[in-house]
Amino acid sequence: MIEYKEIFDEFSEGFACWTPEQDLLQANAAFLHMMDLEAEKPFSRIPGANTLSQAFSEVSSVIMNQIEHQGAIKNFEFHISHEAGSSRWVRANAWRIPNANGGTRCYAAYLADVTTLKLKEAELSHQAFYDVLTGLPNRTLFTNKLAAALQSAKRYPEQYAIIKVVLEDLSNINQHYGRDFGDMVLRHVAKSLLACCRETDQVARTSSDNFAVLLRDPEGGSGLVKIIRRLQNTLETPFVIWEQQLSSISAHLGVIFPLNDYGNPESALRDAGLAASRAKTTRNNLACKFFSKKTMEKARRTLSLSVVLRKKSDLKGFNVVYQPIVQAADGGLHSFEALARWSHKGKSVPPDTFIPIAEDTGFIKSLGEFVLETACRQLHSWHDEYGASINMHVNVSTNQLATYGFPDRVHDILHRTGIDGSRLFFEMTESAFLHDFSKTLHNANLLRRLGIRFCLDDFGTGYSSLSYLKLLPIECLKIDRSFVSDLEKDPASRVILKHIVALGIDMGYRLVMEGVERKSQLSLLDELDRLLVQGFYFYKPLPTYAADALLEEYTGGMR
Ligand code: C2E
Ligand code: MG
Ligand code: MG
Repeated sequence: MIEYKEIFDEFSEGFACWTPEQDLLQANAAFLHMMDLEAEKPFSRIPGANTLSQAFSEVSSVIMNQIEHQGAIKNFEFHISHEAGSSRWVRANAWRIPNANGGTRCYAAYLADVTTLKLKEAELSHQAFYDVLTGLPNRTLFTNKLAAALQSAKRYPEQYAIIKVVLEDLSNINQHYGRDFGDMVLRHVAKSLLACCRETDQVARTSSDNFAVLLRDPEGGSGLVKIIRRLQNTLETPFVIWEQQLSSISAHLGVIFPLNDYGNPESALRDAGLAASRAKTTRNNLACKFFSKKTMEKARRTLSLSVVLRKKSDLKGFNVVYQPIVQAADGGLHSFEALARWSHKGKSVPPDTFIPIAEDTGFIKSLGEFVLETACRQLHSWHDEYGASINMHVNVSTNQLATYGFPDRVHDILHRTGIDGSRLFFEMTESAFLHDFSKTLHNANLLRRLGIRFCLDDFGTGYSSLSYLKLLPIECLKIDRSFVSDLEKDPASRVILKHIVALGIDMGYRLVMEGVERKSQLSLLDELDRLLVQGFYFYKPLPTYAADALLEEYTGGMR
């Protein structure tokens, strides 16, 4: 027959019972070990055990106290210290054994040492909230802290600011120097950010190459600007990693201040990221932009439209309108400018919004060819319908002009639509030549051979270098509409415009004045009989049917 004591002694869990006076009545080996007690034999009585062991004193007191309040306890976890200064976590199940009078005869308990488990749990929870590489709080922890800050920011929005720091070159660094090196750079950034902030601020790594700082009480806008300058200075200080000198961290900063109007941390982080993206467009390293609702609405719209255009493989929703260009002296029809229009989800998107996006995404190439082909077909149909041999201005972007093979595609379009190149003016801006001078000039000369002529659009807004102009195969200057819009109220504009017109005529260019909206503007223009005009005063861009009607009127409906 095996005694139950022998069985309990083999248990890894501690088992014991003790009196209300904390005399240990019985305990197995594991319990004695846990309590730092030594006994000749386990299961022997140890009077006043609480005076012999601090651990037992704590354990028995906590358990008795719990039982007094809630009866038997189950899986109750608590922390105890040992005399040697170490400590451990225990999990207890315990109950009271009554005597004949209903009083307490003793307490019985079994205990498990869960210290290792607790440490593991703590490690896991640290990993869940901290970035292993930099030791900084991660996105989850930052988001939690931010959520709390947003609550209090509802009342005190000026007491908080978010700065997002987006690194630009991390993948390049990883590629060129290796991942370990990239890790060192990240640690350097973490240290730099921490060095610029106070203890009450939160610095976190929110994704692989994004850091965020939640500033508490930045002391108003000027205080905040000082902190931002400090961050910028620190990040642009040269540093050394493994004997490699790096000149500066390449990054952009987005700021939200004051921190009002946010329902959740994710949208605040997103807006800070949008501000950083806007800072990136300045092309200055470590540029910083503050979030503003209006500009960000625009940025968000641009972003969503660029996603649409990037994926778009057809030209559904696009069409072309035609704005007449007229003789300034008598308003007689001279030519048309073909202008692209886009209707997306039932709403028309302004060209000033979608053209830059189309340029950015490369979509401009197919759009430009679509506009050219549509315009050529229109010329063909006007010739068939009204016998009209009118000229057409078509905008071509920098991107198209510098593309290898562009003249061949234009040749194909002319061939397909049966239009002679001499009926076309390609409008381009000065940036076309600044972008890639030799390729653009080469293509422009090939296009000249097809009979196509060139017109410099928005003249006066770029460098407008006249000596430069002579190098280009350009016949016509379209003077930007900003000159006309200032004409009535700004005498200086009048003088400048007068000189541009005189010089343009002297140099033998055909001149088109853009943006004439009122008769009063027209009357302030010189050399009217040598000018062409394009503006709302005469015509807005017309849909095909209205351009048809105009041509019919001009040609007297000859058919
Ligand atoms: P742009 O080539 O300078 O075209 C003239 C713009 O001025 C047109 O704007 C026209 O509607 C506008 N405009 C003409 N007269 C007046 C006026 O009296 N007052 C005012 N306020 N505006 C006037 P739109 O159609 O919005 O086009 C804007 C720009 O988009 C164009 O400027 C051009 O740079 C670009 N764009 C339009 N279609 C195309 C295209 O097919 N290809 C390329 N690459 N760019 C295009
Ligand atoms: Mg134009
Ligand atoms: Mg223009």
